[in-house]
Amino acid sequence: MFRSWARRRMQPLNAISSYQQEQYDAVSMVTEHLRELSADAIEALKTRCAEYLSFRNEVDIFLRAFFAETCTQKCYRNRLSACCQKEGIITFFADVVINALFSSPDDLNALLSVLYAPGAGSKCVYLGADGCLWRIKPIGCEMFLCDAAAASVFSRNPEITEQWESLKMRKQYFTWPDHQVLFDVIEEIFMASGCSSSLMYFHNSPGLLRVKKQAGLLSITAPCRP
Ligand code: SF4
Repeated sequence: MFRSWARRRMQPLNAISSYQQEQYDAVSMVTEHLRELSADAIEALKTRCAEYLSFRNEVDIFLRAFFAETCTQKCYRNRLSACCQKEGIITFFADVVINALFSSPDDLNALLSVLYAPGAGSKCVYLGADGCLWRIKPIGCEMFLCDAAAASVFSRNPEITEQWESLKMRKQYFTWPDHQVLFDVIEEIFMASGCSSSLMYFHNSPGLLRVKKQAGLLSITAPCRP
């Protein structure tokens, strides 16, 4: 089912933006790689993500409880979709892997299809008619609250501010590499299998590398520039 996409990677993608191509390369590489893994290896990867998925579920419950109405009114009924307007959202390599692990082949083909199509316009390339095409959105998107929505909701429910701050702190446990974090470990696992992507920020980003160095973690991982 995915082989046609692998062939397309070999074609020049001149009509699409460099951002789309970068995303396309990552999604197609991860998709192909997962296809080649055994069922046990896939299960092992999913197990590694279990705690993160549980956290994401808590975030989802919080956002549905307190933000769904505001966001639906502000962004969907009036078709503004302000948080999903621009191309160039930050997606970590681990975002791509985790989403692919829990997506169907049709879900992944839908992502590859929009990434391969030119002219995404001013909205995020992943924003479909029914919302985000990702099964598990990038963490940066999930935890983003626009100023208007945050002000509206937190002013009406000041008691939930602490809960949100706590969720933001817990996000760091998976993504801020002052200790060994899931997002870094996932990059390492794929790098060990020969995968390389410019989205591997835990091995490419000077800022994140500095944090790892200060935490004494750089002896474990070396910088990687695809
Ligand atoms: S990836 Fe999804 S949630 Fe994030 S900006 Fe794009 S459409 Fe919106």
